[in-house]
Amino acid sequence: FDLLLREDPEIAGVLLDELDRLRGGIQLIASENFTSPAVLAALGSTLTNKYAEGYPGRRYYAGCEVVDRAERLAIDRARRLFGAEHVNVQPHSGASANLAAYAALLQPGDTMLAMELSHGGHLTHGSKVNFSGRWFDVVAYGVRRDTELIDYDEVRDLALRHQPKMIVCGATAYPREIDFAAFRGIADEVGAWLLADVAHTVGLMAGRALPSAVPYADVVTFTTHKALRGPRGGGIMCTGELGPRIDRAVFPFVQGGPLMHAVAAKAVAFGEALRPEFAEYARQVVANAQVLADALAAEGMRPVSGGTDSHLALIDLRDVGISGAVAEQRCHAAGITLNRNAIPYDPEPPTVTSGIRVGTPCVTTQGMGPEEMKEVASMVAQVIRNPDATREIRERVAVLTRAHRIYPSEL
Ligand code: PLP
Repeated sequence: FDLLLREDPEIAGVLLDELDRLRGGIQLIASENFTSPAVLAALGSTLTNKYAEGYPGRRYYAGCEVVDRAERLAIDRARRLFGAEHVNVQPHSGASANLAAYAALLQPGDTMLAMELSHGGHLTHGSKVNFSGRWFDVVAYGVRRDTELIDYDEVRDLALRHQPKMIVCGATAYPREIDFAAFRGIADEVGAWLLADVAHTVGLMAGRALPSAVPYADVVTFTTHKALRGPRGGGIMCTGELGPRIDRAVFPFVQGGPLMHAVAAKAVAFGEALRPEFAEYARQVVANAQVLADALAAEGMRPVSGGTDSHLALIDLRDVGISGAVAEQRCHAAGITLNRNAIPYDPEPPTVTSGIRVGTPCVTTQGMGPEEMKEVASMVAQVIRNPDATREIRERVAVLTRAHRIYPSEL
């Protein structure tokens, strides 16, 4: 860091300011986490220099024998962690993992059945503003109005009626466990591929805090930077039989050279997730989310579906009479970062929304537990209702973050 400070003080300043921002606030964005210093060290390494198109032992460039070791370690560790037959660790992101998985199994114009964006699905699951919505004929399923849970009868009816070539399960803002066996049964009934996009929950799967999609789905796509606590990036798991198709879809169809520094950092993160402490972390992430959801409910802020089985809760603010956008802005002013989020059947437009999404991967990495979650819920509720409390809440946030400081030095 001292070198960067000397060579490029402007960018060094950005890094320091971001570290201050992370240390000085409470991060409740459900898709974020704090990687370990070891992951950061691998990311900031000379492996960024190497071109390595292809796969270990089969590269299109000379001099790949060292980086091959990093990719083999990443693959071996991921296979051990998830019990997957085949893993591709090269996708640059969750979106490119999905693009490659679709490219491996579908043709433009094919029908895909996936979760409605406004009910918790992801942009890459068929949104009109995304390649998935433009290139495929997308049929969407959602959650029931009364239970706010996935309606597996509706999924089956839609599958029987539309005969999709692929069914996509997995979500961005769905707090509950997903029944992968039910999806498998429906996919088998109509002869569709089953893709599970576990970008959000793969860390909980790794820590055995949620059931794994691997035994059920033909293809499992994921990101490495959310609850899994690795570098920003993606990955794909599949059966051994589909392995060559998936590999060809990642490279050369969707991507060129892999980011070998990121691949090495993924290996570090998989190694960390294989340790027993990670299972304890994953369990605590879920326990914290449940305490946070319950405590917000006690403050009159309703968790969608009544609670959570995962790392996130979706909170309906209609009873409080404050929009998601205003709540996001009031919390941010007090040092609590969370995002506005549509709730199922939301009457408000996506820029306003009636809800917020809160997640616990970051605060759990900081070592916070149930007591701190109650304090966080109390602060969120107070500042959303009363912006005059902003200064007081800022002080309470500072007390909490000082006691749970992240990163040992100026990384
Ligand atoms: N799939 C799901 C379910 C996600 O939640 C996300 C990101 O939030 C992605 C895919 C895309 O990941 P990325 O932002 O790395 O492209």
